[in-house]
Amino acid sequence: MSCDGVCITIDMDWAHDDVLRYTLQDLIRRNLTATWFVTHDTPLIREIRDAGHELGLHPNFNHLLETGDGNGNGCAVDILLHLLAIAPQAKCVRSHSLFQSSRLAILFADHGLSHDANTYLPFEQVGLVSPWRGPAGLVHVPHGWEDDIFILGGRPAPRDALALDGVFVLDFHPIHFFLNSRNDDDYNACRGHWDDVGFLAGYARKRGTGGVADQLRELFDDQIEQGVECVRLVDLRPQKVRQ
Ligand SMILES: [Zn+2]
Repeated sequence: MSCDGVCITIDMDWAHDDVLRYTLQDLIRRNLTATWFVTHDTPLIREIRDAGHELGLHPNFNHLLETGDGNGNGCAVDILLHLLAIAPQAKCVRSHSLFQSSRLAILFADHGLSHDANTYLPFEQVGLVSPWRGPAGLVHVPHGWEDDIFILGGRPAPRDALALDGVFVLDFHPIHFFLNSRNDDDYNACRGHWDDVGFLAGYARKRGTGGVADQLRELFDDQIEQGVECVRLVDLRPQKVRQ
């Protein structure tokens, strides 16, 4: 038996266009589609959309916690409106650092968003969990694996998720796919060089060393071999609960 689908989600996290394109082209070659959570405007957004992928928003509210702003970044609604102007068709949202609150949920719903992807539920502890509808009316879709938790010592991408009942939702970042990161040192060594793609390429781990890209490529190959379709985050619904 195979699962009902794989929902690939991607946090852009302000990565260089060449880094983003590296992920996009890999998915296009495999005929897989994803939901891309947008952090900034770039011509790549059109390429992503034209390739049949879905767009979501990835607002960064972190500075609201730290300084009460002071950087001219505005308040939560300004941050959201800025991204909605870039991707007005977006229906899904995942905040940078999974920042969530009941007030933010209401703000998202009031601005026409329907799906919130801010909950990480580790696959190895809870298996595949159905989406649920929250009090603000949003459908909350949890993801079971995330690349940046793996590089901090978490589990590798669980290929056995493909054999379970339900939809496997995963989350990764193009920079870790590009670097084939395996631990935090791989990432930290590149700090200050995010726009120097030559440097990044020279620093990327070789294929077959067990990094994020190796794991995802193995997972995607299994997915294709087993005929498991990609499902869009925006199409996920809460399952009926047994009475
Ligand atoms: Zn992020």
